[in-house]
Amino acid sequence: MRRLWVRFSALFFLILLVVILMPITFALLNDSPNILDEIVILVAEGEVEAISQRVEEQQREFARGLILILITGGILGVLVGIYVSRTITAPLDDLRNATERIMGRDYSVRVPEKGSEEIQAVSQSFNEMVSQLEDSENLRRKLLSDVAHELRNPLHVIRGNIEAMIDGVFPMNEEELGHILGQTQVLTTLVEDLREVAQAEANQLDLNRQPTEIAKLIDETVRSYQSAAAEKEIHLELELLGKLPTLNIDAGRIRQVLLNLLSNGVRYTPKGGTMRVAVEQVDQIVEIRVKDTGAGIEPENLPYIFDRFYRTDKARTREKGGTGLGLAIVKALTEAHGGTATVYSAGPNLGTQFTLTLPIAGADL
Ligand code: ADP
Repeated sequence: MRRLWVRFSALFFLILLVVILMPITFALLNDSPNILDEIVILVAEGEVEAISQRVEEQQREFARGLILILITGGILGVLVGIYVSRTITAPLDDLRNATERIMGRDYSVRVPEKGSEEIQAVSQSFNEMVSQLEDSENLRRKLLSDVAHELRNPLHVIRGNIEAMIDGVFPMNEEELGHILGQTQVLTTLVEDLREVAQAEANQLDLNRQPTEIAKLIDETVRSYQSAAAEKEIHLELELLGKLPTLNIDAGRIRQVLLNLLSNGVRYTPKGGTMRVAVEQVDQIVEIRVKDTGAGIEPENLPYIFDRFYRTDKARTREKGGTGLGLAIVKALTEAHGGTATVYSAGPNLGTQFTLTLPIAGADL
């Protein structure tokens, strides 16, 4: 009885039943003798006049019965009509009211998920859609305020330094100008990173896919980072496990993904630590694991680590020069290649492992 068509069919069948059963019930309840028997008796008695009287009486009775059936059927029909239309119009009214509130940017609204299966399904889809709208609206607001916040810091420093120079507090020399230049570099990186994430998330990245030997690409990238790791006395190892395939990827972008992970590794691993990059083919994917013995990540921070501007230690990491977009770029670029990016850490000071997967299928080689 939860499907709309079952309910409606049952109701129409009920009306039909009532309309058919009513005359039968009347006939059964009516204990007056059969009209034919009466006429036979009247003919036998020679009461010809009474016959036509009796026939007229019978016709009137029939008309009365018909009117009664029509009225009862009509009332029943109207009641069923009201019920049927209420079943459909009430949820439609709810949907219309909710839509109006959404148009007014109120995303907290939800419609009741009740009624027939079909209406429940529509209400559920509607509520899911509103939830997604609410999430993306919250993300949009958060992004706007994060961007404003991130821009404010370097702008403050630039402005403060220039004002100090004008007031003669700071000398106008190469060193001071270098500080200002450094901050403009922070701003430039931030804007470029933001553009990259926005384009990747909107699927607007122009990926320059070329057949690329993944082993060679990773080997070169890790080598190029050896000196930065050595500077911090971090041991950087590469393990190329088994035979590795050629992938149809944008080598520049995948190199950037790896560099972001390597620079994080170096940033969050103390002196004397180890970073290990392992690459392996598992079924139809290539798995790239970047593991360090550094600061680790608390379990409650893990789900948000790839979010834009998410930092586990806000002040410390900003000071260290990160834009807070490195991992968002890692995720967006990997997903643009049809892959995935995940993170695992056993907890603070227990190191971190990032795992990237890149599909081999569709490599078009
Ligand atoms: P940031 O520019 O701050 O490094 P990311 O997006 O690259 O931004 O990283 C987001 C946050 O994830 C960092 O602020 C840091 O808290 C955490 N994180 C990233 N990589 C590591 C790592 N290898 N070890 C520990 N924490 C990390």
